[in-house]
Amino acid sequence: MSFIDVMIGKLAPHNCLGCDTEGSLLCSPCQSSLPPAADCCFNCQRYSPGGLTCSACSADSDLRLVRSAVSYQGTAKQLVWKLKFAGAQQAAQAMATCMLPLLPVNCGERILVVSVPTATTRVRQRGYNQARLLARQLALQAGLPWIDCLARDGQAHQVGAGREQRLSQLQTAFRVTQQRFVRSAHIILVDDVVTTGATLQATASALMVAGAARVDGLTFARSTMK
Ligand SMILES: [Zn+2]
Ligand SMILES: [Zn+2]
Repeated sequence: MSFIDVMIGKLAPHNCLGCDTEGSLLCSPCQSSLPPAADCCFNCQRYSPGGLTCSACSADSDLRLVRSAVSYQGTAKQLVWKLKFAGAQQAAQAMATCMLPLLPVNCGERILVVSVPTATTRVRQRGYNQARLLARQLALQAGLPWIDCLARDGQAHQVGAGREQRLSQLQTAFRVTQQRFVRSAHIILVDDVVTTGATLQATASALMVAGAARVDGLTFARSTMK
């Protein structure tokens, strides 16, 4: 979060993105009226209860499931925009609150909240990593441990590159830096929006190679592919 962001947040109270009521970025009536994301397999987009990766897709996937709180449209879209460009902290708080009910309860495993790393060039431009901000907020609200354990190598920008090229770039892009924490942990892998799931998938692979027991993807919003 930038200094300017902090100052704006202090000086001007936020208005709800949905109904313009003063007080917070997302009031509770607007939060409950956000359209929920469909329960589907992240890879083939077919219906799957709880967002479980379907049996056909699980052969090639290290993600046990991918769950999203809301559908990427309207107010949800504006919140994601805020997280990236202005009012980031408040946006992260509101988004994490929407994601809380999707966390596993009392599963008896050691849970660790982790965020998808952003390309370093983009972090440098923006001054922070939005997925990390979101993961920290979620961990804080849920009382779960959070760890910054992934690095993204290379400066390759995904935009413009072909699909095959993007996927191969991704597969070699992620590196686990804190392996001892990751080993045998149940990882909740956080990102703001999931579209193809390629980034989540590549990150999950790196975590499984590092010894994670299981990786679940959890995002604020799900965007449907055209
Ligand atoms: Zn509202
Ligand atoms: Zn599937």
